[in-house]
Amino acid sequence: MTVSRNVIRENLACVRERIVNAARRAGRSEKEITLIGVSKTQPAEAIREAYEAGLRHFGENRVQEWEGKRESLKELPGAVFHLIGHLQSNKATRAAKIFDCVDSVDDVPLAQRLQRAHQETAGAGRLRVLIEVHIANEVAKSGAEIEQLPDAAKRIVELPGLDLAGLMCIPPFSDDAGAARPYFRKLRDLRDNLARQLQRELPVLSMGMSHDFELAIEEGTTEVRVGTAIFGARPAK
Ligand SMILES: *Cc1c(COP(=O)(O)O)cnc(C)c1O
Repeated sequence: MTVSRNVIRENLACVRERIVNAARRAGRSEKEITLIGVSKTQPAEAIREAYEAGLRHFGENRVQEWEGKRESLKELPGAVFHLIGHLQSNKATRAAKIFDCVDSVDDVPLAQRLQRAHQETAGAGRLRVLIEVHIANEVAKSGAEIEQLPDAAKRIVELPGLDLAGLMCIPPFSDDAGAARPYFRKLRDLRDNLARQLQRELPVLSMGMSHDFELAIEEGTTEVRVGTAIFGARPAK
């Protein structure tokens, strides 16, 4: 057993314990919270190690990177791969082939492309998508604008190949994890309002990363996206 395998296993146990404790503090069950290990920039071997330690959900942020890594990871039964990074619409067809979920849909044309690609390649079943919301108007971040959300969501739920399950956001980075709380609340409110308007359940809120997932759990998240706390630091860009 390699050293890094032990580290991933221990990190995973630690993150799981923090999820359990945060859920308990919030009066929630940890079963309501899916842990997505964000494996971007990490080698395929790190994904396999986390899988062997019991992790089943993985997040990658680039189509090309995941196309390369998945070649050496053929047999991982039950593993679910989420695209969590901005998707250019000219890569939608490739993304629909290799991801189980696209958590970063930010406009209707992209959703339409995913819908077409999914129906051509996968056929049966629906591709789960989340709408990423441009929650804080930061220039460097993507996502659907809040004002466009009701209309975009209404059109996306009409696409039969897609299953719109909820919303995702990335609040502005801050050393003070507490700074994210208002954004988490805002996303939850947007989700609640949207569910009412669409008269359908939108069960998923994807919010919370290594430095603030406990706070996100207090604010109702159902999926946390945790990279460095599981896999260690990423190489500098
Ligand atoms: C990189 C990334 C994460 C994980 O960030 P950490 O701080 O390493 O936990 C989560 N979500 C998205 C969209 C990311 O790009």
